[in-house]
Amino acid sequence: MRKLLCPQCKIAGMYVKNEQGERLLVYVTKEGIVVPKEVEAVTEGFDFTEVYCLGCSWHGSPKRMVKF
Ligand SMILES: [Zn+2]
Repeated sequence: MRKLLCPQCKIAGMYVKNEQGERLLVYVTKEGIVVPKEVEAVTEGFDFTEVYCLGCSWHGSPKRMVKF
């Protein structure tokens, strides 16, 4: 499956946060859908509209990520 990449450092590894500041590892498909890395992960309470890069300081809407 093709994944979208960070516009700055071009990696696919992202996370999202909940109100407690906990992290959930995700990636973003080429259709712009945010998917948890672990299938069994509990996604309730996490904000999927803003993703954070694992490799640099970039964060923002998954729509701003790049294909390559
Ligand atoms: Zn990055």
